[in-house]
Amino acid sequence: MTAGRLTGKTILITAAAQGIGRASALACAREGASVIATDINAELLERLCAEAPGIRTAVLDVRSDAAVSALAAELPALDVLFNCAGMVANGSVLECTEADWDLSFDLNVKSMFRMTRAFLPGMLAKAAQSGGSGSVINMASMASSIKGFANRCAYGATKAAVIGLTKSLAADYVKAGLRANALCPGTVDTPSLRGRIASAADPVQAEKDFVARQPMGRLALVEDIAPMVVFLASDESLFVTGQTMLVDGGVTI
Ligand code: NAD
Repeated sequence: MTAGRLTGKTILITAAAQGIGRASALACAREGASVIATDINAELLERLCAEAPGIRTAVLDVRSDAAVSALAAELPALDVLFNCAGMVANGSVLECTEADWDLSFDLNVKSMFRMTRAFLPGMLAKAAQSGGSGSVINMASMASSIKGFANRCAYGATKAAVIGLTKSLAADYVKAGLRANALCPGTVDTPSLRGRIASAADPVQAEKDFVARQPMGRLALVEDIAPMVVFLASDESLFVTGQTMLVDGGVTI
């Protein structure tokens, strides 16, 4: 049997029960990684387990300090941490409530601070011991990294913060065997995007509008994004750190 691109690597993914996180868990497992797929939704995780029994799952609310610390204490040291969890709050600055703002920052940004603080010491020790390299992958978005979009006040602010957090990590640990990169997808066909389309006043038009802003004329599939996760997790990206990796179908040409 030939080794996969991620053979020997232990990878933890948050929000891995659906959408981009789930596709990335499956792609990393196919490349030989030991994948720990975490999500707040136990039922969806069970379905993932049924499809890919080799993947270890754990229920994890990334907004809970206690749960994050407990999981970090229980698991072996990681090679790769993919902080994927995040949400979209709709609205301009005048429409965004303080509750939306706070929830968006807690789930989209502070969760990454929490996860990184809990798992980084183990990752650094493992990299030092093996002479290898750890990789943190933080989910940002094309929306905020280069291009602004209407009605994405809290979302754009959080995803820009993710990029700042990622660059600080990259700068602080570049000599310690750790890479950190932010992933910036265009619009991806996932359950949460389907929810946003369904809740629009005119769902048919809403879908057309999402597609229209993609120069390639289609939404991204989760399978368009997962290969970038595999690349950033693998030793193929050993010389890549502090970057915002756009996978956006040409939106930012
Ligand atoms: P999704 O929104 O369809 O699924 C999100 C998952 O997060 C669900 O499985 C849910 O149970 C889980 N989750 C929610 N709250 C959680 C919590 N507190 N702790 C742990 N898990 C929690 O997935 P998606 O659309 O693939 O989005 C994943 C990430 O990709 C997000 O950070 C999102 O902002 C980002 N992103 C998405 C798009 C897109 O168009 N879909 C584009 C760019 C970036």
